[in-house]
Amino acid sequence: MIPTPDAHAQLVSDDRSCVWHPFTQQQGWAGEEPVIIERGQGTDLFDTAGRRYIDGVSSLWCNVHGHRHPRIDAAVRDQLDKVAHSTMLGLTHPTAIALARRLVDVAPEGLTRCFYSDSGSTATEIAVKMAFQYQRQRGGEGARRTRFIALRDAYHGDTIGSVSVGGIDLFHSTYRPLLFDTLKAEPGDAADMERLFEAHPGEVAAVIMEPLVQGAAGMLVHPPGYLRAVRELCTRHGALLICDEVATGFGRTGRMFACEHEQVAPDLLCVAKGITGGYLPLAATLATEEIYEGFLGEHAEFRTFFHGHTYTGNPLACAAALATLDVFEEERTLERLQPKIELLGLLLDEVAAMPEVAEVRRRGFMTGIQLGDHPVELRMGHRVTLEARRRGAIVRPLGDTVILMPPLAISEADLRGLIAITAEAIGAAVATAQLAVAA
Ligand code: PLP
Repeated sequence: MIPTPDAHAQLVSDDRSCVWHPFTQQQGWAGEEPVIIERGQGTDLFDTAGRRYIDGVSSLWCNVHGHRHPRIDAAVRDQLDKVAHSTMLGLTHPTAIALARRLVDVAPEGLTRCFYSDSGSTATEIAVKMAFQYQRQRGGEGARRTRFIALRDAYHGDTIGSVSVGGIDLFHSTYRPLLFDTLKAEPGDAADMERLFEAHPGEVAAVIMEPLVQGAAGMLVHPPGYLRAVRELCTRHGALLICDEVATGFGRTGRMFACEHEQVAPDLLCVAKGITGGYLPLAATLATEEIYEGFLGEHAEFRTFFHGHTYTGNPLACAAALATLDVFEEERTLERLQPKIELLGLLLDEVAAMPEVAEVRRRGFMTGIQLGDHPVELRMGHRVTLEARRRGAIVRPLGDTVILMPPLAISEADLRGLIAITAEAIGAAVATAQLAVAA
């Protein structure tokens, strides 16, 4: 039901007076008319005025099979009839057990243990802590391995550990005094990473990286073979490899996991976002048996992994995740995705040819459209999102890169619609900004 103008005004006023939005300059937010999303259906979102938008960023890169998918809705409802939450500390439950089995089965070879948490940030924070503690508990030369290699412009989340291994200055520079020091490698350059290993022999506990595509860096795509080269370097230099597939996982690059493109098996794998089809917060850090065994010991040895969140392995979220994996099989999602990836490539060729566009970067459905050089005050990326909204699509900027990451379930017609709207929005945003500057 569409709220009356008064009810809508009340929502806007309450949002402005009580809500603090993430990654948002609230001063600017207060000056803009907010889009209040009331419901979703398939790959569309609808606001309180009943306006339809194509969900061009999968509700922050997590929706997979569409909103209100009957299979996932039913799984969550069924679980609600049993129990909504029970702890994984000292207890367990069938849905978390079944999901762990399924995740281990679909994950790259050798990842046999599943440690749950509830966001991408916690999944990577956990991987970093696990790698550190594992090396320490190995004793001998392992105890000297206290450092991490991360990629320049990496993004692994917003908790202090995950920020420490991140490399986006804009997000991280404020917190520098709180962060631990990491070695930074040039993305896509295996020789640079090799130099770091050689300059710090026996010091590196693990390399952490987003495989194939650095999402929050603006969809920075690595050259083919880079991931495999990093895997080999880690093995050769006795360091663990942590792959953060929070963004790339669950089909975004065209395979279930990006690691599969280069037949790479990491020692630790971080997954979140798409794991529940974008329904509920859930994450997992998958580990090899060797790492897991490094934590075994008598109670009094204190080799335990002392980490666990209250909602870790939440049953509703696990039920949504199991149904999400079922839908991948039942709807042959990855198979049906391939022609859509091809179509997206063709459609984006036209966008890349626009004079307003400097570059289009893409792998699978993960797309970054880099606009030309514009003064930061113009907020060109943001202007594009506002123009796209007016035309019926939700897209998001990362600076002056327009990000598209549609749900895998999007129809070809909507994919065409999304790209057409984005192209129009780019043209309109640049034209109006130029007029504003000239005035
Ligand atoms: N790792 C990667 C690669 C991400 O893209 C993100 C979020 O965008 C995160 C970690 C953090 O995930 P969350 O926002 O769920 O904490």
